[in-house]
Parts: sequence; C-alpha cells; structure tokens
Amino acid sequence: MRLENKVAIITGGGSGIGYETSILFANEGASVVVVDINEDAGNKTTQEIQNNGGQATYVHADISKAEDCQNMVQVAEDTYGKLDVLFNNAGISHAEDDDAINTSEDVWDLTMDINVKGVFLGCKYGIPALQRTGGGSIINTASFVAVLGAATPQLAYTASKGAVLSMSRELAVIHAQEGIRVNALCPGPLRTELLMKYLNTDKKKNRRLVHIPMGRFGEAEEIAKATLFLASDESSFVTGSTFLVDGGITAAYVTPE
Ligand code: NAD
Repeated sequence: MRLENKVAIITGGGSGIGYETSILFANEGASVVVVDINEDAGNKTTQEIQNNGGQATYVHADISKAEDCQNMVQVAEDTYGKLDVLFNNAGISHAEDDDAINTSEDVWDLTMDINVKGVFLGCKYGIPALQRTGGGSIINTASFVAVLGAATPQLAYTASKGAVLSMSRELAVIHAQEGIRVNALCPGPLRTELLMKYLNTDKKKNRRLVHIPMGRFGEAEEIAKATLFLASDESSFVTGSTFLVDGGITAAYVTPE
C-alpha cells in the first residue's frame, strides 16, 4: 500500500476530486480526515471508507475560517497522532463570476476567501503539524486556468487559482529543507458537478472540448491518482511544481480534428 501509516487531511472530501481522493487514499492505507462544509456529503464519504474497513473521521469546517482550519488539524493529531499529508482541495466556482465589469465585489470576496484564504489557512495551521511529524506533503488544488486565459470569463476564480499556484511555489521553497514538499495540482476541465453545472448546454461543453487534445473532460478519479503520487514518497523529489493533469490542454495550440 502506497500510503501505509500516513495521516491525511482532505478538504472538500464530500464531492468530486476530494471524494475520489479520500476513497483512494484510504484504500492505500491512509487514515483520512474528511473535511467539508457539507455535513451530509462529508459524513457519506467517511461512512463509505469505514464500511470498506478503512480509517476515516469527518470534520465539519468552512476552510475560510481560521478556527475551523485550526480544528481540522487538531482533530487529525488528536485522532491519529500526527499529520503527513495535507490536501487543500476545497474550492468554489461561483455562478455569477464573470469579467471585470460584471463580477460583483461580493462574488470576488467570497471566491478569494474560500479558494485563496482557505488554502493559506490550511497551510498556516497544517505546516506546524507537518513540522512536528518531521516532514510531509502538501497538495494545493489550483487549476489549468492558473496558466491559461479563457474568453469564457470567471475572473475571480481564475485569479484565485493563480494565487494558489504562486503561493504553493513560494511555500515549497520556504519549507524545502524541512522535508515538507508543496505542489500545486492543476487539473484540466473535469466531468464533475462543479464544472458541469456551469457548462450546462451542449454548446458550452463543446466550446471547451474543442481545446482539449484528448477530446474529452477528465474524471475526478484521474486527478485522485495524480494526487496519490504527490502525497506518497514516490514523489520524494517533486516540490514547487505546477502539476498539470489536463488532457494536454495547456500544451495545445491547434487540437486534432
Ligand atoms: P466539487 O464542487 O465537486 O467539490 C468541492 C467540495 O468542496 C464540496 O464537497 C463542497 O461542499 C466543498 N466546499 C466548498 N466550499 C467549502 C468551504 N468553504 N469549506 C469546506 N468545504 C467546502 O468540486 P471539484 O470539481 O471536486 O473541485 C475540487 C477542487 O478542484 C476545487 O478547488 C476546484 O476549483 C478544483 N478544480 C476543479 C476542476 C473541475 O473541472 N471540476 C478543474 C480544475 C480545478
């Protein structure tokens, strides 16, 4: 098993990438602290892991709140004795996020609070725990939009993911000699709830698909497998990376017909 005796916090563990990663990590031997603002979803993931004989605990948290992030780390240490892996994955994409003219300050602030401050707070309280362990792996979910612009605007979301990418790179440098690795996971467009509710017509879906060389959306399971690599000791020389798992979208100028 690739994560035997490891303790992992996974934010947004109730759905999509976080759900798939929670299940996979538990199957690979990790004890998983499933963190989500959605209590039903978080409990469901936890229950599923326990039913399969794995170790999991649900923690209710809004990652934009300092006390909630402090508490999730505390629960990991109190329940399992340490922290090895911190997957700062929860994020939102607001339906009213648009261009500069049409995005409200409220949408901007909410997006930044969850997507950027949430990752910062996870690191603020998680890094001391990783230091107590003597090292570990942080994976922060950014996105391919951190490196590519789109004419279908989600300005706050895109800016927030750029911030996650640069924050991860700097943290990687700061903590490199403490055995703490920090990588920015950059998924391409996925067939998850988060994106599909935004691309709610065939026209909108096809507008995206034409840019992906593989000609399909990615699956949350495919991102979970990449996360497993970054979490495990197999990636022991990987830090500060812009870890793109995107079906080739960022490599393409012209895609196959
Ligand atoms: P999702 O909506 O399926 O899951 C996100 C989870 O985060 C949900 O369970 C939700 O309840 C939880 N959450 C939301 N706000 C929270 C908060 N304040 N505190 C705690 N939990 C909160 O989304 P997903 O597609 O699995 O996306 C996960 C991450 O991947 C996000 O950061 C997203 O921006 C990023 N991402 C997604 C895609 C995609 O195409 N789906 C592409 C690139 C990056």
